[in-house]
Amino acid sequence: MEEIILIKLGEMVLKGLNRNVFEAALIRNIKRRLNPLGGFDVKIAQSAVYVTPREGADLDAAVERVSKIFGIAAFSRACVVKKEMSAILEASAQYLKPELLAAKSFKVETKRADKIFPLKSPEISARVGEYLLERYPHLRVDVHDPDVTVRVEVRDFGAYVHGPALKGAGGIPVGTGGNAAVLISGGIDSPVAAWTMAKRGLELTAVHFASPPYTSERAEQKVHRLLARVGEYSGRMRLFTVPFAKVQEEIMAKCPEDLFTLIMRRFMMRIGEKIARRESCSALITGESLGQVASQTLQAIVCTDQASEMPVLRPLIGMDKLEIIEISRRINTFDISIEPFEDCCTVFTPKHPRTQPRLPELLEAEQALDCESLIGECVRNAVLTKIYPNQ
Ligand code: ATP
Ligand code: MG
Repeated sequence: MEEIILIKLGEMVLKGLNRNVFEAALIRNIKRRLNPLGGFDVKIAQSAVYVTPREGADLDAAVERVSKIFGIAAFSRACVVKKEMSAILEASAQYLKPELLAAKSFKVETKRADKIFPLKSPEISARVGEYLLERYPHLRVDVHDPDVTVRVEVRDFGAYVHGPALKGAGGIPVGTGGNAAVLISGGIDSPVAAWTMAKRGLELTAVHFASPPYTSERAEQKVHRLLARVGEYSGRMRLFTVPFAKVQEEIMAKCPEDLFTLIMRRFMMRIGEKIARRESCSALITGESLGQVASQTLQAIVCTDQASEMPVLRPLIGMDKLEIIEISRRINTFDISIEPFEDCCTVFTPKHPRTQPRLPELLEAEQALDCESLIGECVRNAVLTKIYPNQ
């Protein structure tokens, strides 16, 4: 039996004139993710994408990957047959045989996108229902709460039979919303922030601040592994690792201790912004969540925000930690995030960080530093790593 993946588009169906752009991006993203698995043909028609495996292609792995591509509302594995009633009947009985044998009740749902097909949807459903009752006499029809729903679709290229549709990753295809640079730590929040914005169609560049010799090579590897997981959704990305120890040492030596974290965060924003502009990004993304820690009170965020002129997207701003953790488990970053490696933020932590800072104080404290040259040096010394999604 020939099997394909039948994909239903998400929100982009609503996008009117831009629809072609969204569809093209989705097709490109699907091809890019599936190509390494061996050959698949990918085509689009009537708001559905058809992924057809060529000889020897790994359909199970393809299903797993398709489930992580943004822009897809739902998808199913389906068996494809000729648009003839006899073929449809046979496929309905065979393709879902294990499910039908295990079930007590079923119903048939038919969609007829090809209006030339001689039977109307209710007639097709009735014929398939009768046939299944003959073949599986233990079954009864239950249209309200069936154990199994047999779905038949008569479309452009053939007739398709499948069981339940699986939920897609939702969102908008990556690459259709522009580019943004995510400030990524090894923590729980920033990978979730990256995923959340990729879901809205943004293509990601990543910036990570590392503080060797205070932080280790393994802490950087952890960030690479986190991004490779995010990349299963967002696609490949460029990561810039910024050597940050000198900035931290300077702040420690020359600024009041209770302002240390905020001044450091302001440096992160300024350096992030410079790299982001160079990489043609139009916004920064952080994993900040209001009130989560001393540096994320409203007043602290106001002061951090003033450091860069670029818009800062903070998708987690109104979420509880438990909500964030739930997403991080779902996207498989949680187990890496909780590995105990030091982060540059945990190396120099003041005992009593200020929670109600005022901008003038920060600006004054920063006068003690040669900000421009420190920032310039960090940007120049940032190391590029290309991150590829986990295969
Ligand atoms: P996370 O779980 O993302 O580390 P957090 O709750 O630990 O967040 P902070 O350490 O205050 O919060 O960091 C807030 C945000 O600043 C992070 O979500 C991230 O966007 C950015 N950030 C923090 N540390 C780094 C770092 N070492 N490199 C790049 N960005 C960072
Ligand atoms: Mg952190």
